[in-house]
Amino acid sequence: MASKLEQLYPYVPVFAQNLGISLFGLAWRHERLGGRFEEHLAAFRERERWGAERLGDHVLGELQRTLLHAFAQVPFYRRRWAEAGISVGDLQSMTVGGLSRLPTTPKQDLRLAPESFVAQNVADREKLHLYYSSGSTGTPITAICTSDAHRRYIAAREARSFGWAGTSVRKPRSMIGGRMVVPRGVSRGPFHRYNWIEKQVYFSAYHIAPANVREYMRAFNHHRPRVMTGYAYSHYILARMMAEVGVTLDYEPDALVLGSEKLTPEMKVVIRQAFRARAYEEYGAVENCMLATECEHGSLHAHPDFGIIEIVDAQGQPVPPGVEGRILCTALQNEAQPLVRYEIGDLGVWAESPCPCGRNNLPVLKEVVGRLEDVVVGPDGRQMVRFHGIFVDLPHVLEGQVIQEAPDRFIVKVVGRDGFGPAQEATIRQRFAQRLGPVSVEIQRVPEIPRSARGKFRAVVRHF
Ligand SMILES: [Zn+2]
Repeated sequence: MASKLEQLYPYVPVFAQNLGISLFGLAWRHERLGGRFEEHLAAFRERERWGAERLGDHVLGELQRTLLHAFAQVPFYRRRWAEAGISVGDLQSMTVGGLSRLPTTPKQDLRLAPESFVAQNVADREKLHLYYSSGSTGTPITAICTSDAHRRYIAAREARSFGWAGTSVRKPRSMIGGRMVVPRGVSRGPFHRYNWIEKQVYFSAYHIAPANVREYMRAFNHHRPRVMTGYAYSHYILARMMAEVGVTLDYEPDALVLGSEKLTPEMKVVIRQAFRARAYEEYGAVENCMLATECEHGSLHAHPDFGIIEIVDAQGQPVPPGVEGRILCTALQNEAQPLVRYEIGDLGVWAESPCPCGRNNLPVLKEVVGRLEDVVVGPDGRQMVRFHGIFVDLPHVLEGQVIQEAPDRFIVKVVGRDGFGPAQEATIRQRFAQRLGPVSVEIQRVPEIPRSARGKFRAVVRHF
């Protein structure tokens, strides 16, 4: 049904689009902030004050509970761990440091059979939410969680990400993200839609161009969101264009809490000047398996009571602080799809020294490597990130890569499984047309997509 509405959406007037988004927002407000939300929020705030030892004990208990639940209820882990000779006793006495005895969970396994990761006892009784994402690895993912787990995720962000930034998810906010709120064919503003219920402005990530900057500014200054969220790189591009045009916001918001891409010091400076507020980095995942938040001292703290992050070498063994490795996540707050040692696809480095903020219970990621990605530049000068969103919800695409050869010429490499054919190709072409208008798109079926020298997958590559 949602897709039918989405198909209709471009053809109704702006006020009707705003109304539709507001009604959608009303339903989602309850999903996010209803139920036991307040209880979860209080718990995340409380645990933040615990010392490292007490929090460690809590995390250990949650880990063992999660592992036993996964073994008993999740078909994938029951089979995989049984094959590896893991017993209930091993899981009952598992420690965080001992996790390397368990095999890792490749993203591809989740991609191929998301249903085999769903806990059977949860699937039977709970309303499950599906999220589709094309993560930074370019591998489209179906993520699943319960309403309550989704509230815990928002509560963790409210306590830590929004709280540390001095703002709240309940304040008027704006979002620049992947949802196509403004149809591509629209070449004049407004480039946003408004949710009256939540006082939330959704901006198009696909119309950021020098000619449109003043229209974006008008909307920000009119709706006056207190906190900006969404794609870090889109905010940076917009801020850069604002500087070129010589405009800034005419008020001072609380903060920007930005994710999806790495927020570099240079990006922060440019964003601060244009938006007149500080940008904080948030590192999360649609799989609901981990969260990390920038504190006032600029360190990215992991939240082990939400999900355990490991950084490991090629053999799956932990690397010491200061050494780069692959990031693995173990979800402690998603009983519907409890991913264990999940290969999120990013590289990271633990910090060698504690953060001056004193939150020594929450370890610091010195760096998450390689989340900077190429920007697609449209023939009309618009700049777009996260362009691999065109692969979302295409179950026959195992991996996809977008290569821009010229402003109007693209090559799409697809590792497809059986069933990938003309219908999927047509969808990809249609999504290019929605975002960019008439451009040339050559789709190539390939057996694999080569990694960069550091082993990093690049979802979008621009050659000019
Ligand atoms: Zn800190």
